Amino acid sequence: DAALAQGRASGKATAALVLAPEGLPDLADRFGPEAQDIALRRVVDRLSAALRDDDVLGQLVDGRLAIALSPMRRADLETLLQISGRALDALREPITIDGTTAYLSGSAGFCLQSRCPDPTGAALLAAAETALSEAQSNGTGAIRAYSAEMQKAVSRRHDLREELATALETRQIRPWFQPQISTDTGQVTGFEALARWAHPQRGLIPPVDFLGIVLQAGLSSRLTDEMLFQALSALRAWDQAGVHVPSVGVNFSDQELRDPELVDRIRWELDRFSLAPQRLTIEILETVVSGADDDVITRNIAALAQLGCGIDLDDFGTGHASISSIRRFTVRRLKIDRSFVTRVDRDREQQNLVAAILSMAERLNLETLAEGVETAGEHAMLAQLGCGHVQGFGIARPMPFEDTIGWIHRHREKLAQAASLGRQAG
Ligand code: C2E
Ligand code: CA
Ligand code: CA
Repeated sequence: DAALAQGRASGKATAALVLAPEGLPDLADRFGPEAQDIALRRVVDRLSAALRDDDVLGQLVDGRLAIALSPMRRADLETLLQISGRALDALREPITIDGTTAYLSGSAGFCLQSRCPDPTGAALLAAAETALSEAQSNGTGAIRAYSAEMQKAVSRRHDLREELATALETRQIRPWFQPQISTDTGQVTGFEALARWAHPQRGLIPPVDFLGIVLQAGLSSRLTDEMLFQALSALRAWDQAGVHVPSVGVNFSDQELRDPELVDRIRWELDRFSLAPQRLTIEILETVVSGADDDVITRNIAALAQLGCGIDLDDFGTGHASISSIRRFTVRRLKIDRSFVTRVDRDREQQNLVAAILSMAERLNLETLAEGVETAGEHAMLAQLGCGHVQGFGIARPMPFEDTIGWIHRHREKLAQAASLGRQAG
């Protein structure tokens, strides 16, 4: 408050800077609880030396440090980025404890007086803390300046978090379905269930905008239950409508796969719908399989395969699953990531990569599906290379359940037409 008043009187401006040191708990683990205090003390000494006499340095909770800069003539973005950079350098200098060298790292957020939503010290500090949490969500060593949009993004995320539980209760979150077809027969071989939030005010929200919030709110298993229930309902409805959809794929996060009750939950749901386990495909990211040192994950996947569910290795090619882990997890199908599929018909390098994946899959007796197929050219090339199934905007975009039956009928008609044209031509 004093710096703001002083700034106003002298035509200069202040700014607030907040630093979050990282690595303090590690120091406590290595050197004992006093080590945190020793390290913080060093950091504070170095920072004080780097700051001007009238700057105010204070400690917030959790070891975070706040600086109120005494008013400057050039309190602009560039100057503050420089000051923040120097402060982080001070944080990163080696610290000697008990004759051993230790290192801290950290992130920084700041707010310029001119950008502050309210002319008070408290508001300036709060804005700098908002910028800091944005910096932290970008990883270690980041610096962020507060902006009004940032506040909107933060409060939007906050609002969504509040609304999430209700959204799950009231079925605002539902799967949309994207077809998968055989390159051999053209028939539908399955649908992937992809989460969509039909928000009453904001419209349709894609999963990238809410999956993180689901995770943070600890609602992953609620989401999966919901997706599973609605995917199985869809299978039953397709059966009742007399359209043949062999299987539906549901995405499972690693958090979900760590649930010791997962297999029982799935078995129970399948029983309740009287559906054979083969009708459900579990999509697991390759990165989850390659990083799975977790016993529960390994056992869950094996048990689901044992039960008869198909296991799809999602985004294949972006992780580094070993061949032995593909075997151990009894994976049924590789879902070749979109990054390999794009321009496969025009780019020799892409073709070689896809061909290599396909021949490995064949030797290992695995099925294959290419995702993100956008053009007829890509589709034709994948068929020619021997990829078993395709999925992507080129076949159809994800659609609400209500549209699926009509789409399947139209797709069948197209197939029949193509076949009769083929006969005429032949
Ligand atoms: P994913 O499992 O790799 O799903 C494929 C994504 O690619 C979907 O995005 C789909 O709409 C999009 N896509 C399909 N065909 C094409 C194409 O031809 N071109 C392009 N550019 N994109 C295509 P979406 O629906 O936004 O989902 C994004 C990710 O969110 C999914 O990636 C999946 O990892 C995750 N996700 C979606 N639903 C769920 C869910 O219920 N649970 C969990 N855990 N994750 C989910
Ligand atoms: Ca998927
Ligand atoms: Ca994928």
